Amino acid sequence: MAQEPRREDGGEPQDDCLFCKIVAGQIPATLVRETDTVVAFRDINPQAPTHILVIPKLHYPDAASLAAAEPGVLADVLREAGEVAGEEKLDSYRIVFNTGSGAGQTVFHAHAHLLGGRGLQWPPG
Ligand code: AMP
Ligand code: ZN
Repeated sequence: MAQEPRREDGGEPQDDCLFCKIVAGQIPATLVRETDTVVAFRDINPQAPTHILVIPKLHYPDAASLAAAEPGVLADVLREAGEVAGEEKLDSYRIVFNTGSGAGQTVFHAHAHLLGGRGLQWPPG
């Protein structure tokens, strides 16, 4: 059965969330696209020539909880990632949703990493 999102994570802005602050314009970021539901900005510590974060404006802690509560917004995130890849002229790229600290998640506001512009190994590390 689908797990209910925790109430404090139910799409409301979180005072202690870095990405909510970027969405609100309280912390600067290099924006590359913005829609009603999504913001895309350059990662501050890029791991590839193109490394852009695509995030929902709504706060959910990870991609799966966003999908459970707002599937249309998760689709918006993926569509915008594809639009950004086109703008960046990437014919190959990777979209990554780190989920959980053991997988490298450090910001608990759902975000897609769009990575490209170099060869990408498989399997990932
Ligand atoms: P993750 O480790 O998957 O949670 O991804 C969080 C990402 O956010 C990392 O790749 C960081 O480099 C990036 N990041 C952290 N702070 C900022 C910031 N102020 N602006 C842009 N990217 C950031
Ligand atoms: Zn947030």
